[in-house]
Amino acid sequence: MAAHVHQQSARAAVRTSWLGLRYLVGHHVLRHDPPLIRGLVLTNRCNLHCRHCRVSERDPMDLSFAEVTAAVDAFYAEGGRCLYLEGGEPFLWRDAAHRLDDIVQYAHGVGYLTVVVYTNGTLPLRTSADTVFVSVDGLQATHDALRGTSFERIMGNIRESPHPSLFINSTINSRNKDEIRAFCDHVEGIANIRGTFFYLHTPYYGHDALELDAVERQRVLRELLVLRRDHRILNSRAGLESALRNDWARPLGACSVYEEGVVYECCRYSGDLDLCRQCGYLSYAEIDQVLKLKPSAIGNAVKYF
Ligand code: SF4
Repeated sequence: MAAHVHQQSARAAVRTSWLGLRYLVGHHVLRHDPPLIRGLVLTNRCNLHCRHCRVSERDPMDLSFAEVTAAVDAFYAEGGRCLYLEGGEPFLWRDAAHRLDDIVQYAHGVGYLTVVVYTNGTLPLRTSADTVFVSVDGLQATHDALRGTSFERIMGNIRESPHPSLFINSTINSRNKDEIRAFCDHVEGIANIRGTFFYLHTPYYGHDALELDAVERQRVLRELLVLRRDHRILNSRAGLESALRNDWARPLGACSVYEEGVVYECCRYSGDLDLCRQCGYLSYAEIDQVLKLKPSAIGNAVKYF
């Protein structure tokens, strides 16, 4: 699967650059904005119980394969070419004999340019998706306190994965905010991780103890601006500076999420303007900066999009 995935990633990089160019020309010249990214929530089931997440408390739900393919077809017909597969834990998704990679292959067959998987990393990282983001929220003790004992298992799965486009997603909160440099140093030692994308804790379920106050938020963002000079941090300078100003467009209409038959603009919580002002979903700050033609954001997006 490794060689197959490697060739596929190279092809996807070329096609995605073309998609980006086409999208930017449409946005700036033709004033036409086709949808850019859709996340598909495949399942509510998860094998972790993270402190910041309540998905696993919902009714267990797996989309049927027929519902998934209908959603995949529908987004393609709207003009979408980038699909994010998420959960719950997407590697747990199944419908009869169908598994996650059947969805990935179906989406590639339909013509999607990029299929991305967001996973907690506790299951073997074997997929023909173009890019895989693994959630790790700090060094071992901190990560395990936040997400349950899983750090060692995740690191083992990362080491054993043949996937050529593995990245870490890490969400900064009040618990891990003081070990960002140590965490970045740790990740630098993992050869097959291509980089880390940082988010800030977002109070989706109301204000909580993990939230960063305004001063800490600014300090953390400034620290990331320094760390990205000599660490493989995916957040661009433009994206972090936009986060410092808290001025990226929201909700971001180019992005959407499909969950149980409903399509949400930006995320499942759009419409809550107070929450949006405190949003720490920094990948949307990146997309906003790409649409504003900021070179550092465009350069970064080509790496993982
Ligand atoms: S909280 Fe608001 S800005 Fe953030 S992802 Fe959700 S809808 Fe978008």
